[in-house]
Amino acid sequence: MKLIRQVVQNDWKDRLRVRARAPRHARPRATAALLARLTALRDSGRTGHGGSSNGGSGHGSRPLRARLRRYGALGGATVLAVVCSGVGIPPPLRPDPPPDEPRWRTLTAEIAAPTARGAPFLGVPQRVQAPDIAHSLQAYADRLHRAEVRRGAAVKQWKLRKAPLRAPTPPEKKPELTTEPGHLKGEGLPPVIVQVPTDEKVIFLTVDDGADKDPALLEMLRGLDVPMSGFLSDEVAREDYGYFREARRAGYGMHNHSITHRQMDKLGEAEQRAEICGQQDILEKELGHRPKLFRPPYGAYDEATLRAAAACGIEVVPLWAAEAFPDRIEYGRADRRFHPGDIVLTHFRGEAEWDAAMTDMVRRLLDAATEQGFAVARLEDYL
Ligand SMILES: [Zn+2]
Repeated sequence: MKLIRQVVQNDWKDRLRVRARAPRHARPRATAALLARLTALRDSGRTGHGGSSNGGSGHGSRPLRARLRRYGALGGATVLAVVCSGVGIPPPLRPDPPPDEPRWRTLTAEIAAPTARGAPFLGVPQRVQAPDIAHSLQAYADRLHRAEVRRGAAVKQWKLRKAPLRAPTPPEKKPELTTEPGHLKGEGLPPVIVQVPTDEKVIFLTVDDGADKDPALLEMLRGLDVPMSGFLSDEVAREDYGYFREARRAGYGMHNHSITHRQMDKLGEAEQRAEICGQQDILEKELGHRPKLFRPPYGAYDEATLRAAAACGIEVVPLWAAEAFPDRIEYGRADRRFHPGDIVLTHFRGEAEWDAAMTDMVRRLLDAATEQGFAVARLEDYL
């Protein structure tokens, strides 16, 4: 801390000297208004990340204290960048300055990022241009603000009772999976799970088959910044893989649900393998990736299914702990509530089968989750 203080103090002296010579337009653009806005945005976000206060040290002149506060706010914004990177908004970039931008001084990243206070640190120490920090913070604050405005409008548009809770930052290390009690397991076989091991109050939205391809579903999820994962069966998805390509581009994982949606445990191992590996090939061709997740139709499987899945490159077989419909949630447990890590099943269905839209189902699910204090998290961040 003493070292940091010394650096900041020297930096302040340099700055006074440089400032006296610098033309007016060359002064930093991180205005008090910007920092106040960033602080307000940070405080309106999720709870749990630290404030920007430096704690009065009693040392230094008043300008130095003001400057420490200012670096504190920059540090707070850096912490905010780390935290928010988990909600689909990329952390601020530090683009090269425009060629005519005055290179009036440099700061070290150690000062900009408050490592001395034990806060997260973005990368190795490097020299950065101070005006660029101000620019990128401004751009970041603008992006954050626009995203929140968009989300608020979506909450109204889709008539949710409350804004859905934001999912916490995903774990750095994915949890170790074990087969759910009562399910088949074996050496080299993918674990069969109905929930993800986590203490966080998160659930996962998984949508099966691919019959209904409602653009409003993607619009709603994007507007609310809520993730989902699809499990596609070629038989119904094939009429428009473009819809699922668009979903994947928007960040939604798409996984294997067999080619013809037959009950796996009624097929021989070779047939099962053809169903699973065949759908891997189709998804690779149509969507550009081979999934690691396979969900057997109806949740029905036997040991041959797991062997076939493993042979096709499948690493996890996620079933579900609850199912969402437009008019109800069917809980798999007697207490009729969500539990941390629960996987929720629903289907790409619509008016024809439900007499209600996909968006009605999402509204029902999100209102129930919010009421119970749960956020919807991204399955692929955990598996
Ligand atoms: Zn299905």
